[in-house]
Amino acid sequence: MTADLVIVGSGFFGLTIAEQAATELGLKVVVLDRRHHIGGNAYSEKEEQTGIEVHRYGAHLFHTSNERVWEYVNRFTTFTNYVHKVYGVHKGEVYSLPINLATINQFFRANLTPGQAKDLIQEQAGELAGTDPQNLNDKGIQLIGRPLYEAFIKHYTGKQWQTDPKDLPAGIISRLPVRYNYDNRYFNDKYEGLPTNGYTAWIEKMAEHPNIEVRLNTDFFDESHEYSKNKVVGNIPVVYTGPVDRYFEYAEGDLSWRTIDFEEEVLEVGDFQGTSVVNYNDDDVSYTRIIEPRHFHPEREYQTEKTVIMREFSRFAEKGDEPYYPVNTSADRDRLLKYRDLAAAEKDVLFGGRLGTYKYLDMHMAIGSALSMFDNKIRPHFESGADIESGGVDA
Ligand code: FAD
Ligand code: UDP
Repeated sequence: MTADLVIVGSGFFGLTIAEQAATELGLKVVVLDRRHHIGGNAYSEKEEQTGIEVHRYGAHLFHTSNERVWEYVNRFTTFTNYVHKVYGVHKGEVYSLPINLATINQFFRANLTPGQAKDLIQEQAGELAGTDPQNLNDKGIQLIGRPLYEAFIKHYTGKQWQTDPKDLPAGIISRLPVRYNYDNRYFNDKYEGLPTNGYTAWIEKMAEHPNIEVRLNTDFFDESHEYSKNKVVGNIPVVYTGPVDRYFEYAEGDLSWRTIDFEEEVLEVGDFQGTSVVNYNDDDVSYTRIIEPRHFHPEREYQTEKTVIMREFSRFAEKGDEPYYPVNTSADRDRLLKYRDLAAAEKDVLFGGRLGTYKYLDMHMAIGSALSMFDNKIRPHFESGADIESGGVDA
């Protein structure tokens, strides 16, 4: 078929655009992905020996407070009632995370009420009272005081980012709630759950429309097929969700990313750790956490002879590694501004998603941002001939 719209990348961003374009506007859409499977980083599959669903690119927990996104995703899948909880190991003891009254009372061997705990933390954070910390180290100490910071944040963050917390932005730590009650839900969002039949079933349903053709093992920059960059740009509108620096052949320099090495192991026990995620908060263990995927779906009747676990090791990405988390140094931010200018000047090409905007986007954010791009740019173009203006990579 000859496409009306070409989408590079079959992750949640690309597939949301594809689904909307086909369903709402009846467009013929071709989606390219250089990987052998659909779904981008949310892809999951059954581990061969155990039959347990494994998230191939790291644990993916769906959560959102966005009503429109929640309504939209429920068109393709139902969700289980899974509520994410995380535990952390410090000096041989297991604590409840994120930091809550159980963590505080266990750590200080105390029986504090919410008010007493607040007073204690305030006293311990006193050294930075009244300041406006800009780095993660000072922000962490101000939030929870030095003893808890040094136990649960300092080394974990060092392992995760390989950067002194004094050189990291304060914002990274603000993602984590601190609670003066016994609520240990990891996320604060209104809706939360895992796709009942797995991520891949959800993702395949999004691509089901007969007007959508997905071409796997197909790189946009490979000239040997009919929808390559040089053949398409300027002739057919494109939504590009690959790395923005790659699109412009790294003309302004490389944007830096962190990647994760996953060490997967099948064990001859039915249950290794009793829960889905255990963080290792000290620096005598080189991995950051262990994921045990069977616990994401307690409602499933998995066999009980074996389990699968994944240890996560974090490091800076090199060319050829999977780019997972934008590092966002000041040099990166300068480069990004230049790439945004280049992207804005690229006619009929829209840049979106995590790699296309160089932004850490959760799944609900990638989907929400794709729905907005569809409403604001794609629909007006195809319905009334409005110009497709990229407006930079900050879609
Ligand atoms: P991606 O999923 O990265 O898809 C981009 C696609 O483009 C890829 O399939 C890639 O192969 C393809 N591509 C790139 N270049 C080319 C090219 N030249 N030609 C053809 N195809 C190309 N979100 C949550 O909400 N909850 C979580 O718990 C969570 N955990 C995460 C854990 C990790 C380790 C990571 C990395 C992310 C996590 N996320 C989580 C974020 C989630 O993965 C993203 O929100 C989502 O994948 C964004 O979708 P996307 O379409 O923008 O990008
Ligand atoms: N963090 C920490 N200790 C923990 C959990 C998180 O220090 O036990 C810090 C760490 O810097 C991490 C950030 O908080 O990068 C955000 O945590 P989150 O679990 O959201 O990390 P991600 O999902 O990005 O791995």
